[in-house]
Amino acid sequence: MKLDFLQTLGLEATNYGSSTGLHHMTFDELISSSSPVDGQHIGKVGSTSRAQYDAIISKAQEAFKVWRTIPAPKRGEVVRQYGEKLREHKESLGKLVSYEMGKSYQEGLGEVQEMIDICDFAVGLSRQLYGLTMHSERPQHRMYEQWHPLGIVGIISAFNFPVAVWSWNAMIALVCGDVVVWKPSEKTPLCGVACQNLIADVLEANDVPEGVVNLINGDYKVGEYMSTDKRVPLVSATGSTRMGRIVGATVAERMGRSLLELGGNNAIIVEPDADMNLVLTAGVFGAVGTCGQRCTSTRRLIIHSSIYDQVKEKLVNAYKQLKIGDPLDASNHIGPLIDTDAVKMYTDAIARVKSTGGSMLVEGGVLTGSGYESGCYVSPSIAEVAANAEVAQHETFAPLLYLMRYSDLDEAIDIQNNVPQGLSSAIITNSMRSAEQFLSAAGSDCGIANVNIGTSGAEIGGAFGGEKETGGGRESGSDSWKAYMRRQTNTINYGKEVPLAQGIKFDLG
Ligand code: NAD
Repeated sequence: MKLDFLQTLGLEATNYGSSTGLHHMTFDELISSSSPVDGQHIGKVGSTSRAQYDAIISKAQEAFKVWRTIPAPKRGEVVRQYGEKLREHKESLGKLVSYEMGKSYQEGLGEVQEMIDICDFAVGLSRQLYGLTMHSERPQHRMYEQWHPLGIVGIISAFNFPVAVWSWNAMIALVCGDVVVWKPSEKTPLCGVACQNLIADVLEANDVPEGVVNLINGDYKVGEYMSTDKRVPLVSATGSTRMGRIVGATVAERMGRSLLELGGNNAIIVEPDADMNLVLTAGVFGAVGTCGQRCTSTRRLIIHSSIYDQVKEKLVNAYKQLKIGDPLDASNHIGPLIDTDAVKMYTDAIARVKSTGGSMLVEGGVLTGSGYESGCYVSPSIAEVAANAEVAQHETFAPLLYLMRYSDLDEAIDIQNNVPQGLSSAIITNSMRSAEQFLSAAGSDCGIANVNIGTSGAEIGGAFGGEKETGGGRESGSDSWKAYMRRQTNTINYGKEVPLAQGIKFDLG
């Protein structure tokens, strides 16, 4: 694999360092990054020590004092320029995402496009950080609320969206007047350094003080520096429910705020009148796209009994046509899993299906031989399980799809909701009644509920996130920006009396 795209992203040295604004750091420990595509070593990144972390946080605190005074639309202008920079480097960053994480090049480009889109959104938002005004019950009083930045926003991100999730958080936080410290996944650290290198140029060209955008690298211990640190008022953490449980509790213990984006267990309900083309495209892409490594990947298809066999047959045929291999080759549908640990979780889940009464309709396994030397390639599976099967209560972060049957929509909605997670959900139907029932308060309990599209993927304009063990956080569009700011209610008396609210009397003489 030719790695010439690395140079374009400023990644030419063997030790890429941890670009933080404190460029000249030396590191005692290094993290190695290798590609699941071909197993090749890509580079090493410095792991941030506790002392380095403290220096970065001090710098960020100083930078916040300046950044919060810069008018929001001017902050938006810096973000606009970063969007331009990303447009220039879309191909090379898309390639790095694909090569370091293993998703298809098209999806790598899509991820960079999402970054560009959120920059555009944040630029508009920088002129729309609106607060409400309200009528005071007291005469000659004015009341309104305004939004102020919080300070340092810590971002912990997962491997599967190695660049987009950071920018969802960072671009919004930056226009809000916060400064950001990002810890990318230790499985995709070069993506982090590349994003930081690209934004460093823009910050420098605009005389933005050092410390506004920071990168730290390392494993969960470096994440813990932030979750335990009172100087970080908001920690936005994306990853497994296991991680979110720990980070959420740690941040709550010190009365900080957390924004949690955790695992999903997403289902599509297939009604008897469903358009079969929609079912196949939404179902198959949802289950195997990104090799089943999206938080919104389709894990369960809940199919009406009257069409169950028909859907099953079509799916099995569709799976026969899937091409698995190098994700940078556009003729392949599916690339590798992130690493051999993920492969083991996949094969363990298949074994659990078989030992607990489920049956495999398509039994994928680990692929070996030419092109599969990294040991990370698997072929996707379909299993038939009971609606309440224990194995289907968990998120297996791999292409394993469970089929279940139902006989009426109330039952299907119960099955769909009866899991600990609550991220994404969908129904395929032509019935307005079924669609509306699914979307009603008595319908899907997820943060995302779709009609006639799948569970996978989302647009940046909507608030993104889920309920229950998915963590309850919302990122990206709509009014998600409010999570990155503190609300202040202001009352101004322009009269000569001090009337008390609720008509309370307090006379001094
Ligand atoms: P992970 O939980 O293993 O790691 C995510 C990040 O958390 C990494 O940066 C890791 O170093 C850090 N981390 C782990 N333990 C920590 C701790 N105790 N304290 C502080 N930081 C800690 O997840 P992963 O394997 O990288 O990603 C896959 C998971 O992420 C899946 O469950 C997927 O559904 C979820 N995910 C959710 C969303 C969403 O928006 N809901 C988006 C992407 C991924």
